[in-house]
Order: sequence, then C-alpha cells, then structure tokens
Amino acid sequence: MPTCQNCHRDWSWKQTIKSLFTLDTAMTCPYCERSQFQTKKSKKRLGFLNFLVLLPLLLNIFLNLPVLILLSLFPLLFILIMSFNPFLIQLSNEEEHIDFM
Ligand SMILES: [Zn+2]
Repeated sequence: MPTCQNCHRDWSWKQTIKSLFTLDTAMTCPYCERSQFQTKKSKKRLGFLNFLVLLPLLLNIFLNLPVLILLSLFPLLFILIMSFNPFLIQLSNEEEHIDFM
C-alpha cells in the first residue's frame, strides 16, 4: 500500500482507489492533506498492469473466443486489475514526468 512521503502514514486500499479515480495527477493525502504524486516507476508499473485489460483481445487472436465471453472478460479484468493498483503505487512529494526516451 502507498505511504505518504510527507506524513509517512500508509493509505488504505479504499483511500488509494478513491484518489486514483480523480482526474488530477495529484492525489491528496487523507491524513495531512498534502498533494502526493506517483513516482515514475509506479506510473510505469501501473501502465503495464492496466495494459493487461487488453489481454482478452490478444488471446482472441489465438483462441477465437466467442464475443460474449470476450465482452464479459473486460469488466472482470478491469475490476481485478484496478483492485491490484494500490499495491503497486509509490508516492512522491513532487511530480515526476515520464520520459519516453
Ligand atoms: Zn500525508
């Protein structure tokens, strides 16, 4: 679970999910209310994890799954992957930008 870099308290799973669903890149610490940002490493890990939502599409190339199964896999995977996100998040006091080079 992520730890606030300002007050060093651990965020709960629920608090982390809540801050993930804000459009702002800053996440507000529920304890000290300071803005927290994801580290570069954390963003990359999450990006990779979230990419797995597309896995059924890749699988379909080989298995030719029925559309109905394919469509029902997406929300399932989405929920599964979202619930794993808080375990991979690392926080930082400053925003770090991903360089694609
Ligand atoms: Zn804090």
